[in-house]
Amino acid sequence: VTILGIESSCDDTSAAVIRDGVILSNVISSQAVHERYGGVVPELASRAHQQNIIPVVHDALKQAGIRKEEISAVAFTRGPGLLGSLLVGTSFAKGFSSALNIPMIEVNHLQAHVLAHFIKEDEDDTDQPGFPFLCLLVSGGNSQIILVKSHHEMEIIGQTIDDAAGEAFDKCAKVMGLGYPGGPVVDRLAKEGNPGRFTFSKPHIAGYDYSFSGLKTSFLYFLRDELKSDPDFIGKNKEDLCASLQKTIIDILMDKLYRAAKDLKIKEVAVAGGVSANSGLRNAFEAYSNRYGWKIHIPKFAYTTDNAAMVAISGYYRYLDGQFCGKDVAPYARVSI
Ligand code: ATP
Ligand code: FE
Repeated sequence: VTILGIESSCDDTSAAVIRDGVILSNVISSQAVHERYGGVVPELASRAHQQNIIPVVHDALKQAGIRKEEISAVAFTRGPGLLGSLLVGTSFAKGFSSALNIPMIEVNHLQAHVLAHFIKEDEDDTDQPGFPFLCLLVSGGNSQIILVKSHHEMEIIGQTIDDAAGEAFDKCAKVMGLGYPGGPVVDRLAKEGNPGRFTFSKPHIAGYDYSFSGLKTSFLYFLRDELKSDPDFIGKNKEDLCASLQKTIIDILMDKLYRAAKDLKIKEVAVAGGVSANSGLRNAFEAYSNRYGWKIHIPKFAYTTDNAAMVAISGYYRYLDGQFCGKDVAPYARVSI
C-alpha cells in the first residue's frame, strides 16, 4: 500500500510518500513571507500553498522514486487549520484522486501529530508506542494530554484553557524582540542561560488542564518593571530570561503529564507537535524516564512541526481500516481530535 500525504493546514506546504508504513519521502516547503508580519497571514498562506503544492508533490514523488500510478490513495489534512490553506490541499487531493481514480482519505491534523510516532524509517524499525499510551501534544495551537487507545481512538484528558505552549514561547519571545516564531530562538538562547535566575507565576488549575496566559502576563509585567530602571535589561539578560521562561513552561507541562500518567497507571509516554523539538522538553522526558521508569517516545525533528509524513501514516492506517471519504468533502477550520 502506497500513500501520498498532503499537509497544508497552516504555513507549511508538504507532501510525503509512505509505503507499508515506511517513509519514502517527506518534502516540506516553509513560507518565509510571514516573518516580517510576526505571525501567519492567512491570505498570503493560501496563495503560497497554491504556488508550492504542485512542485512539492512532484519532488516528493521524485525523491520516493515512484510514478504517480503506483499510489494507492491520497491522504490530506481536512482540519483543523486555516480554511483558505486547507482548501488548497483538499482541492489538490480531489483533483489527484479523480485523475488517477484512487480513493481519498481525510486526516485530522492533531491525530496526525500523534500518529507521527508510527512512521517507520525502514522495514526493521520497530520503535513504536504500544497501546494505550499518553501523548503530550504541544504545538502552536494546542496543548493537550491525549490518551491514545488505538490508531483511530484518542481521548483528550487535559488541555489548555487559554494559550498553547507554543504560543507562550512565541508571545514571550516577541516581547523580547526575538522574532517569529520565537520558540526555536528561546530554545537556543536558553542553552547559555541560568534557568533558576528568574521565577514566573505558575497556574493553579484542577485536573489535567493547562493555562499559559497568566505566565505570559507575568513575564510581560516583570520585563516592564525591570525596563523602567534599566532600559537594556533584556539585552543583558536574554539568555537567563529564555532559560527561566523555558524551564517554567516545561515544569507546567511535565507536572500535569506526570499526574495523568500516575493516576492512569500508564508508563508509556510520547510527545508530539512543534514544541516537542524543544531540547529542554526532550531532556525533561529523558529525566522522567530515568526517574519513573517511563518508556518514552520522542519524534525525529522532521516530524515535530507540520509535515505530510504524519498525514501519510495516518492515511495508511485509515486505508487498512477502509476509511475513505467522498469527493464532496469540505475542509473544516475547527475540529477536535
Ligand atoms: P497546530 O498543530 O496546533 O495546528 P501549528 O501547526 O501551528 O499548530 P506546529 O507547527 O506543530 O504548530 O508547531 C509550531 C510551534 O512550535 C511554534 O509555536 C514554535 O515556536 C514551536 N517550536 C518549534 N520549535 C521549538 C523549539 N525548539 N522550542 C520551543 N518551541 C518550538
Ligand atoms: Fe501542527
